[in-house]
Amino acid sequence: MELRAFFEKYPDESTCIEEFKNKRLENGLVCKKCNHNEHSFRSIDLKFQCKKCGSRLSLRSGTVMENSNLPIRHWMICIELITLSKRKISILKIQYLLGHKRYEPIWLMVQKIRLVMRQRDEKYHLRAYSEFDSEFLEKIDNFIIQRKKTLKENAKK
Ligand SMILES: [Zn+2]
Repeated sequence: MELRAFFEKYPDESTCIEEFKNKRLENGLVCKKCNHNEHSFRSIDLKFQCKKCGSRLSLRSGTVMENSNLPIRHWMICIELITLSKRKISILKIQYLLGHKRYEPIWLMVQKIRLVMRQRDEKYHLRAYSEFDSEFLEKIDNFIIQRKKTLKENAKK
């Protein structure tokens, strides 16, 4: 999607929440407690609720956006930017385009998106919105912690 079209379609955080919610429902949600696959969505606290047992799941849990405080819209814009740019777009540039003050959370976000979108195939774009198993997400977190350490050590030298 062109950026202009993107901004028209998703002008604010609530349209992005709606889109992300729909993507997750399209991908299929399975209740971890009872394996039921029908959920309703509670806009009041951004949680899916199993229609059978009432168990709740937060909108971001199980996705790359888990543990992030950045708006969903930041993530979606970033995913579009990475998808659109043929060459690697710099994190500083993404930070500038998002108008976000702090570099660190943007760096984290970009690393995570790059990791899940590393493989360029037909599922390329979709993968950024998919659910991952906790083991995979943990691996990503560990990888990023490790890289941060290395960067810090290198900066000392
Ligand atoms: Zn359930």
